[in-house]
Amino acid sequence: MRIVIKVGTSTLAHSTGRLNIRHVEKLVKVLSDLKNAGHELILVSSGAIGMGVGKLLLPGRPADIPTKQAAAAVGQCELMYTYDKMFTEYNHTVAQLLVTAADVQDEGRRGHFEDTLFRLLELSALPVINENDTVSTEELGIGDNDTLGAIVAEAVRADLLVLLSDIDGLYTGDPHKDAGARRIDRVEELTPDILALGGERGSEMGTGGMATKLLAAQRATRAGVDMVIADGGNPELLYDILEGKPAGTYFVGKRG
Ligand code: GLU
Repeated sequence: MRIVIKVGTSTLAHSTGRLNIRHVEKLVKVLSDLKNAGHELILVSSGAIGMGVGKLLLPGRPADIPTKQAAAAVGQCELMYTYDKMFTEYNHTVAQLLVTAADVQDEGRRGHFEDTLFRLLELSALPVINENDTVSTEELGIGDNDTLGAIVAEAVRADLLVLLSDIDGLYTGDPHKDAGARRIDRVEELTPDILALGGERGSEMGTGGMATKLLAAQRATRAGVDMVIADGGNPELLYDILEGKPAGTYFVGKRG
């Protein structure tokens, strides 16, 4: 299977911005194993700004654009260094692709991006994609990696998009506030009622939230790609998902 996995900042880093070693080690191990089993994988990874904040010892996520972009420049290095080191232990080669909105909106540029991705897959490398946060801003850019994950999944005609997050699926209410909120296992149709469950809140360091995840689900399922939201702290769930067992919330892609 061809699978796009998006992992959020809240999974990769602690609230300090420092690497969550336990989560990243587990993720790298599972992805390496899935690659060994013959699956084609693409990783869309956030964490550049969060890790830059940690490395530069900034007090929190910067509010101004130059500091945010400086943090991303530092954090992206740290992120790729970490992936390169950890995937190399399992004999896998990572490739970094940083894109801006124009790269995926302009037909010609998107074509080059897709060609590069397909060639990397043929070469058995593991593409690791992020927005080029050093030059794009949230206002003018793709904005969040849930959307980027869906754009990539559509571009490579993936079988599945998995969003690994600090929330383990879509709930009927806010599970932090509402004890009666229950997880929805399967969404066949993104009705207005389902889309209304998006709410607003994301994490302190990342950009996304449930709203961006549901928009990603809309984009992916319209393109015929199934999507899952699952707990990023437990990447072994990927095995369950591939075996068709329940894990997180499964959004069924449109067929035909
Ligand atoms: N591109 C951002 C980063 O690497 C993350 C965007 C997001 O959280 O969706 O920090």
